[in-house]
Amino acid sequence: MPDEMERLTRAARQLLAVEELFGGEFLPRGRNDLPAARSAGRDDARRGTCARRLGEMDRDEVSVCTRCGLHRERRQTVFGEGDCCAELVFVGEAPGQEEDATGRPFVGRAGELLTKMIGAMGLRRDDVFICNVIKCRPPNNRTPAPEEVEACWPYLVRQLEIIRPKVIVTLGNPAAKALLGTRVGITRLRGQWQSLPLIGDNLQGIAVMPTFHPAYLLRQYTKDNRAKVWADLQKAMELLGLAPPRPG
Ligand code: URA
Repeated sequence: MPDEMERLTRAARQLLAVEELFGGEFLPRGRNDLPAARSAGRDDARRGTCARRLGEMDRDEVSVCTRCGLHRERRQTVFGEGDCCAELVFVGEAPGQEEDATGRPFVGRAGELLTKMIGAMGLRRDDVFICNVIKCRPPNNRTPAPEEVEACWPYLVRQLEIIRPKVIVTLGNPAAKALLGTRVGITRLRGQWQSLPLIGDNLQGIAVMPTFHPAYLLRQYTKDNRAKVWADLQKAMELLGLAPPRPG
């Protein structure tokens, strides 16, 4: 039964990711009964339209964008990738060196950790959509300047309007601040459900869970920080109806 095999493979993958990332005390007891990726049930017509609209935006606008000075030094833009109908969207800050070289989001060390975090949720990268606030790499990976965020902002809003996720997980300070329009820092925001302000059509009220950026987590790889991130991800899982691994 391919479905059963798929389910077992996913459960095993999730178990490994949870153990590797968050340690023995968070191991699921027994087998985790994961539902299929939420997006699987969404209808094909909408999926086709969303894929086309995202593809066109990437090809016709983002990949040739010169709205801010970052285009001069980029190797390529990083539009984002994943399920165009995803219920869960991760929003990071900006592409880094590997992302600039490959054109794909979160493929460097921080990206490897994000992939494991997604795995711990019992999902794969292609079950979710992953993107950044800005689509070009800032020199030396500096924090994006306000005018760069402003120039790129319409792309992020349109991506979210097309995907219409149920939950957005923001990774780190700049993403939380940009999407929530707040000056409150990530240490205070993380772990608390937020509501997306009126930033675009049908986006107001979408649930936002701010958490630490994986690059920060790599720098401060403490048990406490890992437990916090895992708690944040589990809140997102709960809202999405994904089976949570139970504490041992
Ligand atoms: N950090 C980000 O915020 N985004 C990426 O795509 C990679 C690293």
